[in-house]
Amino acid sequence: MLIDTHAHLDFPEFSGDLASTLSRARENGVVNIISIGIDIQSSRRAAELAALHPEIYATVGVHPHGARELDGLLLSDLEGLAARERVVAVGEIGLDYYRDRQPRAVQRKCLEQQLELACAAGMPAVFHIRDAFDDFFKVVEGFLSSLKVGVLHCFSGDWGVAKVCLDMGFYLSIPGTVTYPKATAQQEVARLAPMDRILLETDCPYLAPMPYRGKVNEPAYILYTARKIAELRGCSLEEIGERTTANVCAVFGIAPENRWKNVSQ
Ligand SMILES: [Zn+2]
Ligand SMILES: [Zn+2]
Repeated sequence: MLIDTHAHLDFPEFSGDLASTLSRARENGVVNIISIGIDIQSSRRAAELAALHPEIYATVGVHPHGARELDGLLLSDLEGLAARERVVAVGEIGLDYYRDRQPRAVQRKCLEQQLELACAAGMPAVFHIRDAFDDFFKVVEGFLSSLKVGVLHCFSGDWGVAKVCLDMGFYLSIPGTVTYPKATAQQEVARLAPMDRILLETDCPYLAPMPYRGKVNEPAYILYTARKIAELRGCSLEEIGERTTANVCAVFGIAPENRWKNVSQ
């Protein structure tokens, strides 16, 4: 039993034959997929996909690459979407100083405003942070007492940064890049992080794990990521599946005994 906590199912790569993508995921033991919004359109589509498919849940948010778009009107649209059934978090939100597509001050403001939304809605936040952990910690510190919980998606920091995130109560989501031979820092994090704070994700259509590196990624391939983490930690694939699924339930309120319903609604 595996859950892909970060997929972009509304992207054009999946528009042709989503049914086959979902059935391949099911064949590989993927019981739920969380489709992530990056702007208002994709957030709306993610919420619609979640309403249509029992295995899909959604998040809504504006990615740091689109930070400039966020104004009062868009924020209230997001708030409306966040209240829909089967929308389980605000995200992906954050800071990306690696691509640096928007002024950093604008990115920080966009993050703050959406953190306020997550806190007000009592929802978890899904963070996208690249080369920006120092500023992220400064921004998020003010929200720690009111934020329900947070997930560092596609966690890219080393073990030192991971420890700070864990101390703040956050979960670390491990993508398929952990299977790449040179990903030693990410492998160290996947090996050392407490079992009750790890999530799995594909970030599909990006970042396909070995042996599909360079190809279009999809939720079914999360099996390879789970296998790699089991190997790194010296435990069984079943244990990785059980524990990470329980973690998803703890973070997003998706009930393990009745996974088609969101108990937090
Ligand atoms: Zn991201
Ligand atoms: Zn993403």
